[in-house]
Amino acid sequence: MHTITLIKGDGIGPSIMDEAVKVIDATGVKITWEETYAGMSAFEKFGTPLPDETMASFDKTRVAFKGPLTTVVGTGFRSINVALRQQYDLYANVRPAKSWAGIKTRFEDVDIVIVRENTEGLYAGLEHYLTPKKDIAESLAVVTRTASERIIDYAFQYARDNHRQKVTVCHKANILKYTQGLFLDVAREIAPRYPDIQFDEKIIDAACMHMVMNPKQFDVVVTTNMFGDILSDLTAGLVGGLGLIPGANIGSDAALFEAVHGSAPDITGKNLANPIAVIMAGAMMLSHIGEVEAAERVVKAVEKVVNEGVYVTPDLNPNSKVGTIEMGSAIVAAME
Ligand code: NAD
Repeated sequence: MHTITLIKGDGIGPSIMDEAVKVIDATGVKITWEETYAGMSAFEKFGTPLPDETMASFDKTRVAFKGPLTTVVGTGFRSINVALRQQYDLYANVRPAKSWAGIKTRFEDVDIVIVRENTEGLYAGLEHYLTPKKDIAESLAVVTRTASERIIDYAFQYARDNHRQKVTVCHKANILKYTQGLFLDVAREIAPRYPDIQFDEKIIDAACMHMVMNPKQFDVVVTTNMFGDILSDLTAGLVGGLGLIPGANIGSDAALFEAVHGSAPDITGKNLANPIAVIMAGAMMLSHIGEVEAAERVVKAVEKVVNEGVYVTPDLNPNSKVGTIEMGSAIVAAME
């Protein structure tokens, strides 16, 4: 029996998380879901975007399954996603993007895992105005040797454990010589410890161009916080869109699983949201808690439904009249 903190989230969150829980429960793995709240829905219910009960549950379970949370752009409370990652030191954000046989895109054989540093960089939250008129603002990018070492080492170890060939570090050390320079220096120091894994380095802007022209040259990519956030949306676009990409946020003693995408206010309440990203995040979570066989069954069922292309949401098949709930049910039915 496992106990997992469940945060359904905002916008499309509750609808896709209900399907993900339905699929995970259909594996037969015994999970007690502790439902808690965060983000806008928590703010509306409890007057705070991160209630103590949510933290108390995660403190205890150390595993959370979370839907997307709305963060108001520009003003309002700080991102609760960023706060959770920093509070529990969930330093490795792993975002795999793999082509699907049933989804037609420009490339057929993309298989890239973005490993993003998740606790510092430009998302350290050190921002302020320099003038009372608020016409000059400043953000500090923090890069530490300790955090760089652990994320780069994580990427190489991930490559080794998952039978991958290559790690590419993406950076901007030509301009940001101290912060990005430190990250690159650490990558160059760690790479020789993994002689079985090929090492490559690319400046981030060139990496984007290479990735959309010849994605096959990328395997595992390790990069700093904001570059990783942006690159993982790019890789999502390469394989069929944001509705497909899961993310694991891994720390040394806690882990949180979610989709890469956000709360999608434009399609909320329309039964249009694709539940695959959170279902695949659920599969990553099952592996993490040791339920590897159940995780494989979920992935196989998802692949069957997506590749058949019938019981899929309209983002995958514009002619489809099928919605979130029907797609979830089709995945449960396809499970062996
Ligand atoms: P978004 O990812 O919510 O949506 C971008 C586009 O992708 C939209 O057109 C949306 O309809 C589409 N999309 C996203 N998920 C989809 C799905 N499952 N199925 C089909 N289409 C899908 O990004 P946004 O609109 O820039 O952000 C909305 C909110 O989400 C913001 O408040 C943002 O801060 C938040 N956000 C949260 C997370 C998170 O919780 N981890 C991540 C990203 C954005």
